[in-house]
Amino acid sequence: MKLKLLSSLLVMVVQTGVFAQSVEIIKAEAEKQTGYALELCKHLHANPELSFQEFETSKRMASELEQIGFEVTRNFGGNSVIGVFRNGDGPTVMLRTDMDALPVEEKTGFDFASIKTADLNGDEVAVMHACGHDIHMSTWTGTLRSLVDLKDEWSGNLLVIAQQAEEYSGGAGQAIEAGLFSKFPVPDYALAYHINPELETGQIGLRGGPVFAGVKTVEITVYGVGGHGAYPQKCIDPIVIASRIVTDLQTIVSRELSPTEPAVVTVGSIHGGTRPNIIPDEVKMELTLRYFSDETIKKVIAAIERISAAAAKTAGMPDDKLPKVFVDPAETPPVLNDNELSADVIGFASDVIGAENIIETQPEMVGEDFGKYGLTPEDVPICLIWLGSTSPELMAKLKAEGLRPSPLHSPTLTPDYENTIKTGIEVMTANVIGLIKK
Ligand SMILES: [Zn+2]
Ligand SMILES: [Zn+2]
Repeated sequence: MKLKLLSSLLVMVVQTGVFAQSVEIIKAEAEKQTGYALELCKHLHANPELSFQEFETSKRMASELEQIGFEVTRNFGGNSVIGVFRNGDGPTVMLRTDMDALPVEEKTGFDFASIKTADLNGDEVAVMHACGHDIHMSTWTGTLRSLVDLKDEWSGNLLVIAQQAEEYSGGAGQAIEAGLFSKFPVPDYALAYHINPELETGQIGLRGGPVFAGVKTVEITVYGVGGHGAYPQKCIDPIVIASRIVTDLQTIVSRELSPTEPAVVTVGSIHGGTRPNIIPDEVKMELTLRYFSDETIKKVIAAIERISAAAAKTAGMPDDKLPKVFVDPAETPPVLNDNELSADVIGFASDVIGAENIIETQPEMVGEDFGKYGLTPEDVPICLIWLGSTSPELMAKLKAEGLRPSPLHSPTLTPDYENTIKTGIEVMTANVIGLIKK
C-alpha cells in the first residue's frame, strides 16, 4: 500500500516537472493559432446550418483537416467528418467537435451575425449558432493546428470527429453505428468542450462523474369515449383523465424518488379535442425525462405507466383501452466523465491556466450526446469540459445590474470569441500533450 502510494507520487512529480517545460511552448502556440481560429469562427457564425444539414460546414471542416495533414473521411454516418493523424507509437486521443446550429433568430448585433435561413420541416426559419458550436469547431481546428506544429512533443494518434446533429442527439450514435471505433484507431481517451456563458473566459469547468443528464422522450396516448359536450354522463372524458395524469406525474420526483436522486418529469405538450362542445376520444401528451442512472429512469417509467393506467381505470375505462405509454428508443444517455481522466485534465489545465481558474461545476439536467462515445463495448474514458465564454468585464457589468449572461440557445448569446478560443486551444493542446507526451 505504502509502496504503491509512494510510486504514484513519484510519477506525479515526474509528470508535472516534465510537463511544466512544455507550458510556455503551448501558450505561445495557442497565441499563434488564435487569430486563424477566430476568423474561422466568424465565418462559421455567419454561415450556420441546422442539424443534419451541415453540408458546407462539414466540407469546411474536412478541408481544414486536409490542410493540416490529416487522413480525412467525409460523410461518415451522415455529414460527420473523421480525421486521423498518426505520429508514432502511443495511445490514441479522440477530440470531438459538434457542427450544428439552431432555429433561432440572432439578435446580437455582431457585425458577423447570421442572417441565414433554412428549411425546417417545410417552414423557413432563421438559423443561429446559439449553442457555441462555432466556437467548438474553431477551437478544435486551432488545437489540431497547434498539435501538428508541436508534434515533436508527443507520440501517438489523433482521432478527430466533426460531428453532425448534436442538437438532435443523432450524430454521435450514427458515427458509432457507422463504425467509428472499428474503422479507425480505438481511442484511449475522448475529450470535448462545451462553452459555458456562466463561466468567465480564462476559466474551464469540470467534474468527474455525471455532467449532463440522460434524456428520454415519452408519449402518452389517453383514450376516452367521445360524445356531445352537453352529455358528459354518456362519455368518458379523456381530457379529465389526462389532467389527472399530469397532476399525478408531479408526485414521481417529489414522492417516489429519493431527494438525493435527481430526475425531471416535464409534460411539454398536451393535445386533445377540436371544439368546445365535443368530448374527444383521445388526448396525446409528450414528456421529457431527465436522469443520471439506469435505476432512476426505470423507476420513473414504471411510475408513469402505473399512474396513467390508474387514472384511466378510475374513470371507468376498460383494460383494453388504458393509456398507451410509448418510450422513444432514441435516447440520449447521461454524460459520465471518467474520474481518472478528469483528474488528469485538471492537472494539465492547472499548469496552463492556474488551478484557481478550474471551477468544479455541478451536473446539468440538459442533454449532450457526447456521453454515447463512453458507453460502447470499447469502454472509452470520456471527459467533457465546460469552456468559459463570457468576458470578465461583461460578467462584472451584468452582476452590478443584477443580471446574468444570456444562456445557451438564446438569440443574444454573447461570447467573448477571441479569449474563449485562446483558452480553449491552450487547455486542449495541453491535455493531449499531457496524455501522450513523448
Ligand atoms: Zn445546444
Ligand atoms: Zn451545444
